[in-house]
Amino acid sequence: MSVVQWVYEYEQGNASMKSLLGGKGANLAQMWNIGLPVPPGFILTTEACKAYWEDRAGLLDAVWPQVRQSMKRMESATGKTFGGKENPLLVSVRSGAPVSMPGMMDTILNLGLNGDTVEALAAASGDERFALDSYRRFIQMYSDVVLELEHGDFEFCLAQAKKEQGCRHDHELSPEMLRKLVGQYLQMVQSKGKVFPEDPWEQLRLAIEAVFRSWNTPRAVTYRQIQRIPDDLGTAVSVVSMVYGNLGNDCGTGVCFTRNPATGERELFGEFLLNAQGEDVVAGIRTPRPIQELKADMPEVHGELLRLTSLLEQHYKDMQDIEFTVERGKLYLLQTRNGKRTAKAAVRVAVDMVRENLIPKDEAVRRVTPENVEQLLHPQLDPNLPMNVLARGLPASPGAAVGKVVFQADEAEKLGRSGEAVILVRPETTPDDIHGLFAAQGVLTSHGGMTSHAAVVARGLGKPCVSGCEALDIDLQRETIRVGDRIIRKHEILTLDGSRGLVVLGSLPLIQPSFTDDFRELLSFADEIAALEVWANGDTPEDAKRAREFGARGIGLCRTEHMFMQAERLPVMQEMVAATDREERVAALNRLKVMQKDDFLGIFEAMQGFPVTVRLLDPPLHEFLPKVPELQGRIAELEKKGQGDAPEAEHLRRLARKAESLRESNPMLGFRGCRLGIIYPEIYEMQVEAIFEAAGELVARGVSVHPDIMMPLVGTLEEMKRLRAMVGEIAEREEKRTGVRVPYLVGTMIELPRAALVAGQLAQEAEFFSFGTNDLTQTTFGYSRDDAEGKFLAEYVRLHVLPENPFHVLDRDGVGRLLEIAVQDGRGTRPAIQIGICGEHGGNPSSIAFCHKLGLKYVSCSPFRVPVARLSAALSVL
Ligand code: ADP
Ligand code: MG
Ligand code: MG
Repeated sequence: MSVVQWVYEYEQGNASMKSLLGGKGANLAQMWNIGLPVPPGFILTTEACKAYWEDRAGLLDAVWPQVRQSMKRMESATGKTFGGKENPLLVSVRSGAPVSMPGMMDTILNLGLNGDTVEALAAASGDERFALDSYRRFIQMYSDVVLELEHGDFEFCLAQAKKEQGCRHDHELSPEMLRKLVGQYLQMVQSKGKVFPEDPWEQLRLAIEAVFRSWNTPRAVTYRQIQRIPDDLGTAVSVVSMVYGNLGNDCGTGVCFTRNPATGERELFGEFLLNAQGEDVVAGIRTPRPIQELKADMPEVHGELLRLTSLLEQHYKDMQDIEFTVERGKLYLLQTRNGKRTAKAAVRVAVDMVRENLIPKDEAVRRVTPENVEQLLHPQLDPNLPMNVLARGLPASPGAAVGKVVFQADEAEKLGRSGEAVILVRPETTPDDIHGLFAAQGVLTSHGGMTSHAAVVARGLGKPCVSGCEALDIDLQRETIRVGDRIIRKHEILTLDGSRGLVVLGSLPLIQPSFTDDFRELLSFADEIAALEVWANGDTPEDAKRAREFGARGIGLCRTEHMFMQAERLPVMQEMVAATDREERVAALNRLKVMQKDDFLGIFEAMQGFPVTVRLLDPPLHEFLPKVPELQGRIAELEKKGQGDAPEAEHLRRLARKAESLRESNPMLGFRGCRLGIIYPEIYEMQVEAIFEAAGELVARGVSVHPDIMMPLVGTLEEMKRLRAMVGEIAEREEKRTGVRVPYLVGTMIELPRAALVAGQLAQEAEFFSFGTNDLTQTTFGYSRDDAEGKFLAEYVRLHVLPENPFHVLDRDGVGRLLEIAVQDGRGTRPAIQIGICGEHGGNPSSIAFCHKLGLKYVSCSPFRVPVARLSAALSVL
């Protein structure tokens, strides 16, 4: 063992050696080597820690001569002697892992003091109070972390002493009182059967061993588990000669950030205490003062601090979190590291540093995470806030909301219109609740998963949702929620945290989102780097406007059926569905066309020439009709009132007959998608006409328009051929009629395994593909999403049968393989074919990285996820 170098001098280290010297040690070395005022010291490596766990006594023996030698160097550097009867050298023993890891050993200050050296320190400093104060701190810390005695007992003695002397602060204790306290401390150690070593060398050896030992304390092990930090990193030990902040009022200690860690503003931010040692600032014994006040107390030190901290920031090119101590007017730096910051500060700092020419744009983008972006787009709860959590569910849609509990969508709408904040609470939601979801601030359901109706709609609307909160017993009749023995009534206030899946009683303050100019600028850096474009899914002109605001460069999925669900349109749609012949159907379709054209005008105009991918009608027709039992109920009611022969009843019977005849045992795989357009061509013809009439009018007005017409659920070449011919004819006819040429593409969604497998054929007719990965995941796995989510998928993930929910994170091996085949074969036939993705995966960072690898042109996601996707697209390149 003796040949191994276990101990490093500062001169032998630098900031890049974190895995060997720990974060603290590597940065101390770096600061020393660039000439900053760091007290002399040395570092025992993480390798020594690892070796300690192999052979404890052997390692300590092997390390010891090297420690001795480094201590000798420190003695000559400081002109002091360790254990010396004159001018004694004291050190701190500090733990420091390669990654920041609270939960390990605390630092010991003032090591080297005993009955003799404390007198020597008093003599050397000319300050008895200071020497005794340092001694009692040392005994306290050493007993705590090396001897593992109860911290509280010492605190109690200290409090008693202050009471006895009638003072409030530690530093006001008289030397006599401190001497008495030290005696009590030592006695207490003895009475607990422990030995307080008098010999400074023994103190040092045991302290070093305690740091190594602390690597495997239960709290350290648990912390590593939670944070997924490997167990085999080990911790380094820094031994640093003491500098004293507790020598009087020209001394002090503090912590500062080079920028404001909450806002990112460029200003020195931090706190300090006069006449104190390091741990006092964080321990909260005295209230520290804002760093700005240091200027009045010690103008020169303050100036020096400004100079050195900005130098450090220039050197590390990131915001620094710095510990310092002032001894008799001289400033020392004791630690620096990259500072933790809020999402808002992360963006501001990154963008400012580009403006200051400190970092390049790609580095700025790298410093912001998708989670940061998510936080910035939605109101959030302060994570540090104490809260009374009522129940936990799934974090189905991010953000936080506060509002009155309501149970009915109609009431949510009514209260919402009058400006009240409401939380819609339902066992689960259905498309009938959509107006309530619109009006509510947030949604809470007791059933349903991350892709339940409530979750999907809430994410689309950018509203928080907690779903599957099974602890809630919701009684819609009485309008109450029962949780255990607690009852929550209508109009009581709840706070939801959809980012963490929490339901909290009462109202908590929210941190408001900020789509700031800095944020916009950061995303523009991301766009410069990204290869993928980000488009948005949107069905209305409002969606399209929002998509543009968030920087979408196209609409990747405009679902036309959503346009028919609106209250005033649904009856016309139902007419169309219930039609008994073509003539009736065409009559209804002509009325629908007027409405649909209006929507297209709005969306195309909002998108200012960016492509708009319009998907023709997709769901099975019975989805537009009320359910049969509901219709029967309404008919029975009319009959009871003696109105069984009224036209209304007749109409309902007609709908019921139709609904009955359209019933399917597996609608997901039934009469839907392009199958509708093939069997009832007039439906798709109407939609295509609406598209071209709207586009033609806009082009004639000088607005640039680019519709991409998308056929859903295509599985065969023949389907694609016929549909494409239909579009071609209408386009030509319209051009002849109006004299206006509209540029357009015809393509298909790839959402069936067969479509992916015959993509080479489909590309003969299709000018673009868009992967509909929601349905493609369903059809590839053979999972019906609605059934799988609630019944077994969560269990599958928990039991590790599946690594992840494939509806959240794209399954690369299966679904991803189909994507690969489709991309390759599609390009084989039509090299310039446009390919993108419009499933919900389009907003998921890891799925975006996969799309980047496939070389897709774009990902399309909900407008609210566009910023996250823009960042993720750039991070996929970096
Ligand atoms: P932590 O990781 O808990 O911050 P540190 O090792 O950084 O532990 O030290 C705790 C406190 O003691 C800090 O305020 C630090 O600045 C101070 N400190 C550490 N070593 C010395 C020293 N040699 N002289 C003066 N103060 C020190
Ligand atoms: Mg520290
Ligand atoms: Mg689909």
